[in-house]
Amino acid sequence: MGRCIPLSIPNFEGNEIKYVNEALGQGWVSTGGAFITKLEKGLADFIGTHNVAACQSGTSALHMALVDCGVGPGDMVIVPTLTFIAAVNPVRYQFAEPVFMDCDDSLCMDPVKLRKFCEEECAIKGDKLVHKDGKTVKAVVVVHVFGNMADMEEIMDIAGRYNLKVVEDATEALGTRYTEGKYAGRYAGTIGDYGAFSFNGNKIITTGGGGAITAKESEMVDHLRYLSTQAKDDPHYYIHNEIGYNYRMTNLQAALGVAQLEELNEFIARKHANYDIYSELFKNFELGKLLGFREGTCSNRWFYSLEINMEKINGTMRDIITKLEERGVQTRAIWGLIHEQKPYADSLVYEIEKADYYSSCILNFPSTTQITVEEIEYCANAIMAVLREMTK
Ligand SMILES: *Cc1c(COP(=O)(O)O)cnc(C)c1O
Repeated sequence: MGRCIPLSIPNFEGNEIKYVNEALGQGWVSTGGAFITKLEKGLADFIGTHNVAACQSGTSALHMALVDCGVGPGDMVIVPTLTFIAAVNPVRYQFAEPVFMDCDDSLCMDPVKLRKFCEEECAIKGDKLVHKDGKTVKAVVVVHVFGNMADMEEIMDIAGRYNLKVVEDATEALGTRYTEGKYAGRYAGTIGDYGAFSFNGNKIITTGGGGAITAKESEMVDHLRYLSTQAKDDPHYYIHNEIGYNYRMTNLQAALGVAQLEELNEFIARKHANYDIYSELFKNFELGKLLGFREGTCSNRWFYSLEINMEKINGTMRDIITKLEERGVQTRAIWGLIHEQKPYADSLVYEIEKADYYSSCILNFPSTTQITVEEIEYCANAIMAVLREMTK
């Protein structure tokens, strides 16, 4: 057969080479140059916000958000356990403690448990939320998993009530927005106090590696940009009044980003169309269910998830993935739970149930923007055939 349909690869059908060549031609390859400001402006316009700072990665964006929140040693930050570890590691970069929270059926943080944790495990003292063992809970990191909007209406209400800063990890959700309700028209990453984006190779648009950050107030973004450029106060005399980072995006990366941003609407449209084809193909499948996206939102549909009825399957998720690999279909399991990873073994964990279930039964399958209808049919049929073969 010799087929290999990738899970998610970048799409460079636009002006990528042209713009990168321009950047090279101008000699602006490093952390200054017109493409960086162009990308920042373009992103801000796209998600309808005032100010965006481009940086080196989604991880660096998340790290700077926590720095700006004032998260430090001895503080607590509420995080999801069902996510990519980059959403959690910055808590430890700041020598703070994560508290792991469960997901709901959207795979995003469960607001019911979040509220219960704040209500029952913590107390408001002055303007602080203090956990029963004495630590201040400063912030919550909310991940919009696979492009699906977390329940921001509930989460913002809880955060307001309990004085928590909200860091939205929108690294997978560029372009996802509310269409109804209190936040109608608002994009993922622009609802909380901070919004982090990623342009890693597998994300909906890529700069090779890269990210961006936005925040509630435009001045906050200016400060984040300042932190990302070694907190340099003066262009000529090397005055620094804060600890900064080398987190600024380069002009070469931004050149790629400007070209990709021109195609973002097209990429989202293709993700939608392809999802709808899969949805039709999996409609009556007895061994798995294609997960949907939150009502009242328009997701970028970055990744597709099949919830497999593992009780009916003879074998593990690894077996399924291997068998699909043999048929030329690249798939992956959702993440292992972060609180079970070695560096987090001693962390505080709050009533994890659904995350445990979903971490064992979710399969992601090819969602590349270039995939053809024929390839989608091949993938869906291969997945259904493999699972039927493995039925107990
Ligand atoms: C990709 C990703 C990140 C990190 O982004 P990088 O640009 O790779 O640093 C963080 N959180 C989640 C949920 C991600 O998917």
